[in-house]
Amino acid sequence: MKRPEDIIEKVGVIHIHTKDSDGSKTHRKIIEMGKSYDLDFLVFTDHMTLKHKPVEGLYGKLLVIVGYEHEDQDGINHFLIFGVNSVLSRDLSPKQYVHRVKQVGGLGIIAHPDEVRDFEKYPPLPWTEWETDEFHGIEIWNHMSEWVEGLANGNKLKYLFKPRSLLISPPKTTLERWDRLNKRRKVVGIASADAHGHKVRIWGPVWKTVFPYKVELNSLRTHVLLKRPYPKDFQKARQEFFEAIMSCRVFISNHRWGDARGFKFWAESDRNFATIGGRIVITSKLKMFIRAPKTGRIVLIRNGKEIEHTNDRNAIFPVKSPGLYRIEVWMEDKGWIFTNHIRVVPPYKRTKTTKKSIKGKQ
Ligand SMILES: [Zn+2]
Ligand SMILES: [Zn+2]
Repeated sequence: MKRPEDIIEKVGVIHIHTKDSDGSKTHRKIIEMGKSYDLDFLVFTDHMTLKHKPVEGLYGKLLVIVGYEHEDQDGINHFLIFGVNSVLSRDLSPKQYVHRVKQVGGLGIIAHPDEVRDFEKYPPLPWTEWETDEFHGIEIWNHMSEWVEGLANGNKLKYLFKPRSLLISPPKTTLERWDRLNKRRKVVGIASADAHGHKVRIWGPVWKTVFPYKVELNSLRTHVLLKRPYPKDFQKARQEFFEAIMSCRVFISNHRWGDARGFKFWAESDRNFATIGGRIVITSKLKMFIRAPKTGRIVLIRNGKEIEHTNDRNAIFPVKSPGLYRIEVWMEDKGWIFTNHIRVVPPYKRTKTTKKSIKGKQ
């Protein structure tokens, strides 16, 4: 197990549309912007196209990945697909395309799983096929979904001119679903910009970009924790990145409330560690450690329920029972940081390899 300080954090934005589908800027332009915001990765996912897959690569320190957003014949069940060479057939059922991605060793993430909208122009696009169990992750927070849901009921002018100000937190139903799914197996939770750079007509010839890429790249970010720096070879770097995502070594943040880079959450007992996405055997000395870049309301969640909280920059919580632990950090009533889980398991679940590695460390 890597010590928390040896983990390499990469910060970026996932789920970006371009002119290849319904976005308003080109890959080149968005890559330039990503570089200027000091991002470590950008993940493009246009609807049903991989036309610009050749732009994938390392641009200095910026890793650029091109997947796509698949949809079924009814235009719902959106699925972010990576690691396939061509767009899958639209005739496949959601269960079939989820299976296909897993089969070829790709990465598949359910987009806006619980979207509810009461808005004629933008009908809801939820995920409906929960029989399948082969996806790697779900979007626990989608900027576009939350914004459109709010737009239907809220103050339209405020929504048009301040698109970041109403971003509150991941939907409760999605967090509950995610915690439930993780009881069975690892399911990564990511944040999505669902960036389009949407333009709307305000009046006559007057158009406004309600959601400039500038805002979308500076709101919901995903932080991916690597065991080593990006290898120089792009294919290897991409593999390293996908592996970290599949292993749930991820936390997410709303950049508006502060740069969450440097945030740490780990479990420690004697000389044994588990960081986000990891697993650790319970002992009487087991504690959870949290280090945040600034003060917020740090909440410890166990099996979907809040069990401890403190208003501070750092926190240490003793752990008394096995379970699925994750952290939320809030800035008053606005969600700032949400981590993936650390699994605390009872001693009888200790495997041969775990025993060995503990021994090896002592
Ligand atoms: Zn979508
Ligand atoms: Zn999308």
